[in-house]
Amino acid sequence: MGNAKLVYAFTEGHAGMKALLGGKGANLAEMTRAGLPVPPGFTITTEAYHTFFRAGYRVPAELQRQVQEALRGLEVEKGQRFGEPLSPLLVSVRSGSVTSMPGMMDTILNLGLNDETVRGLASLSGNEPFAYDCYRRLIQMFGNVVLGVESIQFERLLHRLKAGLGIELDRDVPADGWRRLIEDYKQCVLRFANREFPQNVQEQLALAIEAVFKSWNNQRAQIYRQLNRIPDDQGTAVNVQSMVFGNRGDNCGTGVVFTRNPSDGESILYGEYLINAQGEDVVAGVRTPQSIGALRDEMPEVYKQLKSVCEKLERHYKDMQDIEFTVENGKLYILQTRNGKRTAQAALKLAADFVAEGVISREEALMRIEVSHLDQLLHRGLDESAIRDVLAVGLPASPGAATGMVALDADTAAAWRKEGKPVILVRSETTPEDIHGVLASEGVLTARGGMTSHAAVVARGMGKPCVCGCESLSIDEEQRKLSAGGGAISEGDWITLDGASGRVIRGCIPLKEAQVTEELLRILQWADDIRALQVYANADNPDDALTARRFGAEGIGLCRTEHMFFAPSRLPVMQRMILADTGQERQAALDELLPMQRDDFEGIFRAMEGRPVTIRLLDPPLHEFLPKLEELHAKFEAADNDIERSQYSRLIRKVKSLHEINPMLGHRGCRLGIVHPEIYDMQIEAIFKAALRCLEAGIRVSPDIMIPLVSDANELKLLRERVDEIAEQVLGDEKRKECGYKVGTMIEVPRAALTAGKIAAYADFFSFGTNDLTQMTFGYSRDDAEGKFLPNYLEQKLLPRNPFEVLDGEGVGQLIELAMMNGRARKPGLKTGICGEHGGDKESIAFCHRAGLHYVSCSPYRIPMARIAAAQAQIEHSQNIEFSAG
Ligand code: PEP
Ligand code: MG
Repeated sequence: MGNAKLVYAFTEGHAGMKALLGGKGANLAEMTRAGLPVPPGFTITTEAYHTFFRAGYRVPAELQRQVQEALRGLEVEKGQRFGEPLSPLLVSVRSGSVTSMPGMMDTILNLGLNDETVRGLASLSGNEPFAYDCYRRLIQMFGNVVLGVESIQFERLLHRLKAGLGIELDRDVPADGWRRLIEDYKQCVLRFANREFPQNVQEQLALAIEAVFKSWNNQRAQIYRQLNRIPDDQGTAVNVQSMVFGNRGDNCGTGVVFTRNPSDGESILYGEYLINAQGEDVVAGVRTPQSIGALRDEMPEVYKQLKSVCEKLERHYKDMQDIEFTVENGKLYILQTRNGKRTAQAALKLAADFVAEGVISREEALMRIEVSHLDQLLHRGLDESAIRDVLAVGLPASPGAATGMVALDADTAAAWRKEGKPVILVRSETTPEDIHGVLASEGVLTARGGMTSHAAVVARGMGKPCVCGCESLSIDEEQRKLSAGGGAISEGDWITLDGASGRVIRGCIPLKEAQVTEELLRILQWADDIRALQVYANADNPDDALTARRFGAEGIGLCRTEHMFFAPSRLPVMQRMILADTGQERQAALDELLPMQRDDFEGIFRAMEGRPVTIRLLDPPLHEFLPKLEELHAKFEAADNDIERSQYSRLIRKVKSLHEINPMLGHRGCRLGIVHPEIYDMQIEAIFKAALRCLEAGIRVSPDIMIPLVSDANELKLLRERVDEIAEQVLGDEKRKECGYKVGTMIEVPRAALTAGKIAAYADFFSFGTNDLTQMTFGYSRDDAEGKFLPNYLEQKLLPRNPFEVLDGEGVGQLIELAMMNGRARKPGLKTGICGEHGGDKESIAFCHRAGLHYVSCSPYRIPMARIAAAQAQIEHSQNIEFSAG
């Protein structure tokens, strides 16, 4: 391999050679090939880095030879010579890793200047101050980057010079001033680097190349690689490029231009430039740059050329470009181009516009949408510039932003809401009894509880922002105060929540409205045309169902009926049902609950207009509906008569009797329905009565009745019989056919997945409850895991991702695939979907697509994202199939 090619002229490479030439090198080569005005140069490959590294940090002779050869080519092209006093070639040296890496070495400009060549540059340019300014910049950059002298040492000297001259701007410094500074700089190098600044230009170049190679392993770069999972063995390339100068006079300049507006996507050139300046001057902010539009008047020819370069680059890369340019003596040069960073709103407009302009296909446009960024658009956001005081950060439990006055209990929240005040409910944790407070508030903040805590689930369902598990929060209910991160807040003070990041902010921060743009609607339509997966919503009431429809839900994948019992008017009835001592008492309470549920179901059926509505029968353990034991004890102590006291002691006995060691694995789900059949009977009856009302009103219905927590086929068999019996009783034969209900089960216990073949015999559908399935497969209780050890696991990279957010394909996914296979083998027409939180996550949606599920279900506000993610999954999957077939 002795003579392997280690150096490529820009004319020899192309965009496909990124691994060898680094990102920047490949890009410069690609632009050169496309005929753009790129200052000529060459790239030293990543392979050369490896030989350098293997040779024990020494530049091998072969590399030196190839660099010299490339340099000669450059000299011929430019008609200049490196180190030649009369007509010196000057170059820049930059690092260029495969993945862009800000932790790497800084650029060195003006390499090739020394005491002699600087005179050549001065006479050639006819601009002495310019030439000496370039030289002192070289000593400064070289001294810092290659020889390790702190920048501040040079800055100090520069400052002293200007102060002495009574000058503020660099460009007013005369040549003589620069000459004096150069002498000072040289002394500075000698003093701090213990060596002379090299006058030999070949030595300058060799040391600079070595410095780039070594910078691959500096601490900044190593940390950056670790954070961004960039492999250490990629190595870096080095770009050596002939200099062009934007600081030679008033027909020179430098700037940055975006081919479209990166904040809203509008098709106009967008950017800034500075006349008579070098790149750093734009960043340094000493002079205020002019907007690119002004270039049209100042340098019309250059503007025209720049515009056509922008068009060309955009067409070439099929995306909005972020371009660095320099104008030297009225001639335009392009120094760099890359895909421009953009806001979510701009991303949508760009995608839609590029399709309209015939630049990319709809599939390509869809693949470019970063679905996680859609959150920015679909929920209200914060005016980031107004944020001063972040009090604490909790778990980002429900996205969106909200601002309001702190209310420390649900009653206060509800009362203030009535007075028209916006409130934020702040609690240690919420319970079902707080529901009216949640309803009344703009957002919810809790000190305890994870992403599936009551507050989180309820807030997500209502589309309200929620921050929970904010452990640094301490609430003093007596003093009506809370403290967080050292800051104190009284009830009634304003705070702002950012449910997307978990931030709790002091004061009233202005909110930015959600934006459903015309472009988003168009892109969603394309997604719908392409995707195979259907998108359902999790919704528990008619309002949520309507919201879900608005976002495009094709059905309801999970209606958690327990949520219907939490409303303040219903909870007492539910509690009476649970606490009943006799069957009669219990039935009386159920009779009261039935019409409430029936009306809810009817509302949901009407909202969904015949689309499937998956209704899950009661799932949580009963104690969740009851007051907390400590609360009851307190009330017992405070009671002022015997009757009250005996009532409380009865309650306490009952709550104790319902206590479970591990409620998650206890008496809940179908186990409850089997032991207390009257509860499920009531729910089933309510569903069919609601269906009957709709059918009689000429409205189509399609209820999918879902039995939770099944672990054995017999459980489903038994409960399915109940459903069929009650359907017969309520609907009669004819309406029963018209109703066309389905009975199915959640697959959320590992044993259900393992015995899915048997279970399928009694199921019309499977819905994977991946929240519980993940909990039970890992043996993690979610709230405990997320609150205690999971962050540590993620930090140590024991797990790649939080399995409650991104479906664990390796373990949980295997159970799903197995259940799909055996379920379908037993019942080919089996309908399948997912209703756990994962239904709104991009990667998990892709998994569901590959596994062949019919639908995913997620919260109404995530539906647009899910529609796009489902289309992306389809596109990616079909590309992979094509690839493996080809
Ligand atoms: C699940 O377990 O995935 C599920 C949807 O049920 P829940 O979160 O209500 O337990
Ligand atoms: Mg569950």
